[in-house]
Amino acid sequence: MSRSSELFAQAQHSIPGGVNSPVRAFAGVGGDPIFVERANGAYMFDVDGQRYIDYVGSWGPMILGHNHPAIRDAAIEAAERGLSFGTPTAIEVQMAEKIIDIVPSIEKVRMVNSGTEATMSAIRLARGYTKRDKILKFEGCYHGHVDSLLVKAGSGALTLGQPNSPGIPADLAQHTLTVSFNDLAEVEQVFSQYGDEIACIIVEPVAGNMNCIPPQPGFLEGLRQVCDDHGAVLIFDEVMTGFRIAPGGAQQHYGITPDLTCLGKVIGGGMPVGAFGGKREIMDHIAPTGPVYQAGTLSGNPVAMAAGLAALTTLQDHSLYTVMEARVSQLMQGFQQAAAEAGVPLCVNYVGGMFGFFFTEAKEVTSFAQATECNMAQFKGFYHEMLQRGIYLAPSAFEAGFMSMVHSQADIEETIQAARQAFAAVAN
Ligand code: PLP
Repeated sequence: MSRSSELFAQAQHSIPGGVNSPVRAFAGVGGDPIFVERANGAYMFDVDGQRYIDYVGSWGPMILGHNHPAIRDAAIEAAERGLSFGTPTAIEVQMAEKIIDIVPSIEKVRMVNSGTEATMSAIRLARGYTKRDKILKFEGCYHGHVDSLLVKAGSGALTLGQPNSPGIPADLAQHTLTVSFNDLAEVEQVFSQYGDEIACIIVEPVAGNMNCIPPQPGFLEGLRQVCDDHGAVLIFDEVMTGFRIAPGGAQQHYGITPDLTCLGKVIGGGMPVGAFGGKREIMDHIAPTGPVYQAGTLSGNPVAMAAGLAALTTLQDHSLYTVMEARVSQLMQGFQQAAAEAGVPLCVNYVGGMFGFFFTEAKEVTSFAQATECNMAQFKGFYHEMLQRGIYLAPSAFEAGFMSMVHSQADIEETIQAARQAFAAVAN
C-alpha cells in the first residue's frame, strides 16, 4: 500500500471523507488521492517520492509556479513582522491600488479570505443596492458554497431554485433563478418575467467548473445589456479567470465591464484570500460607508497581502502570458492529435491559461448539458493512465485545467507523450 493510501485511510477517521474540500477525495475518478509533501515550479512531489507535472496549481493560485521565490520571500518577510494585527496596514492600501490598477472595472475593492466570501458578499451588496431579492445564475457555474448559490436548474428550462445540498432552506433557494450558460434567449425570457425583482446576474465569464466552457460570441455582451435594461447588477465571478485569462481577467479579454467583480485564488499567491470590487457608487453601500454589512477579522491579513502583492506585481510582466497561452495551445493541440491517432473522439476548449478536454464526438462543447453527456468512463481511465505516468490533472471531468507560467516546453512534450499512451490505453 502506498504512503498516500495509508494516510488517506487514516484521515477518514478524523476528517469527513478524509479531506478538507470534497473534490480532493477523488470521488470523480475513483481510487485514492495523492498526498503531497512539497512542490516546486511546475512539479508536485507526493509522500511516496513520485514527481508529477501539475496542471491543477492548487486550483489556480500557482499561476507563477509552486514556491515562487518572490512570493515565498515576501510572505516570510511579512511573517517576521507579525501574523495579524486587526488594524489597517499600509500593504492593504497597496494591494487595493494594485488591483484597481490591473482590473479594468474595479474602482474600489474589499479584501476577504476566500472566493466564497467574495461571491457571498457581492450578492448581498447587489441585493442591498437594488433592494431586490432574486438573483440569476447559470447551470454548472460554481461560485463557492454560498447558500444562495448552491442551487442548480432542472432540465434546461428555468426552474425556481431547488437547493442541491441539504441545509439550504427552500425559502432562500427560491430566490435563485438558474438558466443555461451561453443561452441568452433564456436569460431574456427570465428577465421579461421577473426583471424588476432580479438584483443581479452572477456569471463565470469563462465557465471553469463544468470543465472549460468559454462564452459564445455576444453572450457576455447580452448579459451586460439585459442588466442595463432592467437595473440589475452584473457580477463577474473572476475567482478562476482573474489574472489568468488576461492580466485584467476575462473582462479585459472580452472587453465587457461588469458592475462588480469577485476575485480569489491568484490574488493571494497561495494564501487564503479573496476580494470583491467594482463601481465606486455600488461599493460605497458596504459598511462602514453604507448600510450593507460585511466584515472579517483576518481580512487583509498582512502575510496574505504580502504574498498576493508579490504575485500580482510579478504578473504585470505581460510577456509571461504569451508564453503561458502558447503552452496551453500546444498542449491541447497535442492532446487532440494524440487522441485522433488512438481513434478516441476528443473536443478541446481553451482560453488564456485555462483549458479543458471532453471525451465526445461533438465538434464543440458550449453548454453544461453537453459537458455532462461526455464519456466519463473514458475520462476516468485516461485520468489514471496519466497519473501513473506522473501527470497530475484535476481529478474531475468538470474542472478546468490550469497552466502555469513556468511549465516548460519539455514538460508539455512529456505530457503529450504520456497522453499518447493514455489515449491508446482507453481506446475502445
Ligand atoms: N468562484 C469560482 C469561479 C470558483 O472556481 C471557486 C472555487 O473554486 C469559488 C468561487 C470559491 O472559492 P473558494 O474555494 O476560495 O471559496
